[in-house]
Amino acid sequence: MTYYPSNRQINIPYLLKIGPGKFDKIGKYLIDKDMTNIAVFWSEGLEDIFGERFNNSIQAYGINIIHKQDVRFINIEEITKVAFNLPNSLNAIIGIGGGKALDFAKYATHLLKIPFISVPTSASNDGFCSPNCSLLVDGYRKSVKSSIPFGVVADIDIIKESPQACIYSGLGDMVSKITALWDWKKAFLKGYERYNDFASLMAYNSLDLLFIKHSFDTSSPEFQRSLVTSLLMSGISMEIAGTSRPASGSEHLISHALDNISKYPKMHGLQVGTASYLCALLQENPETDSLREVLLKTGFFEFVSHNPFNKEEFISALRMAPTIKKDYYTILSEAGNFQRAVKLLDSDEILRALIKNNIV
Ligand SMILES: [Zn+2]
Repeated sequence: MTYYPSNRQINIPYLLKIGPGKFDKIGKYLIDKDMTNIAVFWSEGLEDIFGERFNNSIQAYGINIIHKQDVRFINIEEITKVAFNLPNSLNAIIGIGGGKALDFAKYATHLLKIPFISVPTSASNDGFCSPNCSLLVDGYRKSVKSSIPFGVVADIDIIKESPQACIYSGLGDMVSKITALWDWKKAFLKGYERYNDFASLMAYNSLDLLFIKHSFDTSSPEFQRSLVTSLLMSGISMEIAGTSRPASGSEHLISHALDNISKYPKMHGLQVGTASYLCALLQENPETDSLREVLLKTGFFEFVSHNPFNKEEFISALRMAPTIKKDYYTILSEAGNFQRAVKLLDSDEILRALIKNNIV
């Protein structure tokens, strides 16, 4: 059982800019917050694409780049070394790009206790505004406690140009709240976890925001804006709950296991979305029909079926998943559910198309 002190401080982002054309205004956003000396961490190759626009934006306000680098590795030791070698005059760190650059910058600011401005160039998972990051610790990918960003600048004009896989990955990470929230509630009812009604409400509302508001056309700017906002709310719900429970359950355990087992792991949200559908069936989750409908109508299932999962690896991941987190109840903890899950891979028509034998 985890206890949370009643006076625990909850952080929320103070700077939130989501919409078209936001990237070119970063300089103004920074100077408004008196951020004059910055370090910038780029996803590999992105400085070539966006570097000039970024420089123009900050030079207009006399902001100094004290340090910049491309992020290739996310070893916790390397981040710590880089962070503590940064000059004291620094008053913000900017991460621009995808998972690695954002996680690197987020953890460095967590160590230095200075603001982090998250600038995602795709909406492939909720990590751009969550209180944890995925780092390499002793050679293994681990979720490490960090801090929620001070600011998020998400330019929809840039996000809409990201590969289709990123949008589907973001969608998969988003629908996984359905199974994560079920696991959390069940763990609470069994007496294993504390529950937080507000965090749960927020995570549910973030789903509504995405699915009730408009059509399932993933290429529309409205859909992408809602996806970014939903993922952002999902990240903040973890901060409010003081645990990743509202956004991560059995489906994330399967995805973590796939990351460790697979020869070629897929994007986080593609793994999580597929696993979420399987876990919803196991849970006999009342939202299963909505989850199936969303993943069918948006084309998620079809997209994953073009590059299916290797069945042997998936079964190994199912076996490993309940062992990944100690004393952590999910639907996969129940006796007999491994066998039920393996049977579903054969009996469910959708899963048969997503998870196949003899896939490299
Ligand atoms: Zn996730």
